[in-house]
Amino acid sequence: MGRLVNEFTWSFSRDRALRQCPRAYYYRYYGSWDGWHEDAPAAVRRMYALKKLTSLHGWAGQVVEWTLLTALHQARAGGQADLGYLRRLAAGKLKSDWRLSQYNIHAGGPSSFRIQEHHYAQIDARLQPDQLAPAIQEKVRTAVSHFASSGLLERLCRVSGEDWLHCPPPASRQGPPALPDHLTLDGVKIWIAMDLADREAGGIHIRDWKTGRVHSDDQAQLACYALYALNRWPEASLDRIRTTAVYLSLPGPWEPTIPTPAMLAATREAIQTSVRHMRSLLTDPEKNTAEIACFPVTGDARMCRFCNFRALCPEGHKRMMAAPAPEPEEEDPLAEEEVG
Ligand code: SF4
Repeated sequence: MGRLVNEFTWSFSRDRALRQCPRAYYYRYYGSWDGWHEDAPAAVRRMYALKKLTSLHGWAGQVVEWTLLTALHQARAGGQADLGYLRRLAAGKLKSDWRLSQYNIHAGGPSSFRIQEHHYAQIDARLQPDQLAPAIQEKVRTAVSHFASSGLLERLCRVSGEDWLHCPPPASRQGPPALPDHLTLDGVKIWIAMDLADREAGGIHIRDWKTGRVHSDDQAQLACYALYALNRWPEASLDRIRTTAVYLSLPGPWEPTIPTPAMLAATREAIQTSVRHMRSLLTDPEKNTAEIACFPVTGDARMCRFCNFRALCPEGHKRMMAAPAPEPEEEDPLAEEEVG
């Protein structure tokens, strides 16, 4: 099989990455490309391995999502899914992931799962999560408890098999991750990372788990999912689409939003503006090629304390020498579900 071409695509996480630090954006989307190949230059392989690091808070979000999807699939098959079971599932996943990350620090390949704080030795890799990551455990426990007490699981279990439009299996750490869905807008592939979609009350309800803080573009992201639904499912009509950001750090119920034509138009315009800006930074927009010099380092030194690439970025290294590392469990402003 030939090599993959680095096609220009867009996602909300890509847009946030560029706003947070253009240099880190370059490393993530251009410098590290091809780094999964064994014959790639060592510097590219290293950049790729750094790109694949997962912060503690990003990892907590992955554990929650895995737990909820596992419980949902088991409950739909008639299995157990009460709060005690959810907590045991989550605790087991935290332990197995933690051990996997510890193992991969020395033995894994560039694509292997590693926790960023293990890689940068910010935490003692010999310790178990129940000994050192109480805030992460609490974040996961809280999210799972809010989900269990909200009644959402029972409601989702009542959705019949044919009414599910999107209900993926829990993500596995084995093998390459599944590619997300996408929408094409003005010829550009837009990655879509919705969590669940089902037919409800004669319409479509789209839900997205959120384990971190509320972001200013959360509603735009949901509006983008509504755009996707209108393109993907012929039965979809805008007045019958509901979208819900399920903020699991807060107790439910979580209020759905009714997307409007104005919200969709504004989202589309914001995406077009972001695409134009990203392309204006490229050396050759047709071939999607970039030069590092066109991507300056961020002026916000706080970003460097959490950046995956600080080991190879001279500016980030200098800033890290001048400032203390973040507390091991301090929330990462870059912690996002990475899509595209
Ligand atoms: S270390 Fe700082 S300046 Fe360097 S890429 Fe990361 S965020 Fe940007």
